[in-house]
Amino acid sequence: MIVAKIGGSAGVDLDAVCRDLAELTKAGRQIVLIHGGSHETNVLSEKLGKPPRFVTSVSGMESRYTDRETLEIFEMAYVGKVNKSIVERLQKLGVNAVGLSGLDGRLLEGRRKDTIKVIENGKMKVLRDDFTGRVERANTHLINILLSNGYLPVITPPAISYEGDAINVDGDRAAAVLAEALKADTLLLLSNVPGLLRNLHDPTTLIRSVTQDEIDEVMEFAQGRMKKKVLGAKEALAAGVQRVIIGDGRRARPISDALAGEGTVISKAQ
Ligand code: ADP
Repeated sequence: MIVAKIGGSAGVDLDAVCRDLAELTKAGRQIVLIHGGSHETNVLSEKLGKPPRFVTSVSGMESRYTDRETLEIFEMAYVGKVNKSIVERLQKLGVNAVGLSGLDGRLLEGRRKDTIKVIENGKMKVLRDDFTGRVERANTHLINILLSNGYLPVITPPAISYEGDAINVDGDRAAAVLAEALKADTLLLLSNVPGLLRNLHDPTTLIRSVTQDEIDEVMEFAQGRMKKKVLGAKEALAAGVQRVIIGDGRRARPISDALAGEGTVISKAQ
């Protein structure tokens, strides 16, 4: 079983991802897709006159400030536009895809943060009214019903809190929980870079392989949102996933290439 997470950043080629996925599933590979939608959310937010606001937590993680109105825009982009456009592409290619958000059937469940502490202009601020959280559980029962009946699940944030609120969650870490829950052997995190780079501005500095005990060392190269991918990889490996590959979603065969080891392969220590 493979869990493939497709980033929502600009540049990822969804046509290529879906073509590749269709070939692989027709050849018998069992794949669950989870995707992001950050770029589309930014575009839509601007169009609707509510520009995105990003905040940096005290621990240095960047996230989208998600008040109720932002959450609605987030759902329009992730669940409405991106998810359905992937399902449509796959259906056109003869794959019986079913698109679901983490809310549906409590597919991705987690804790909502009551407040978040952020640093703004050098000062600490406490934000309330923020619909963000972190995935802790995945409803594998529902996913297995779909898989065993020949459907390909296409999953997207938001997740659902234990109280039943929709929450904006990090897709990479949600993918890690999903991979763990499904006992996947491989987790793919495909984005708009060749993998984890030593120098973000130089694609020739790709780090090709990392073992589990070297993860903290390479974390220093990851900036901004890449940190969440490395953190997701760490969590997935600790939970029993055999390997995590941070690969390039802009290639002609993004999933096959990542499975063949193109990208940063992070694996269990021998
Ligand atoms: P996605 O939405 O596709 O999952 P993100 O935007 O969350 O992707 O993360 C990928 C981004 O991480 C890249 O576009 C890049 O700008 C940034 N990044 C930061 N540090 C690194 C690094 N060391 N190597 C590669 N990318 C990095």
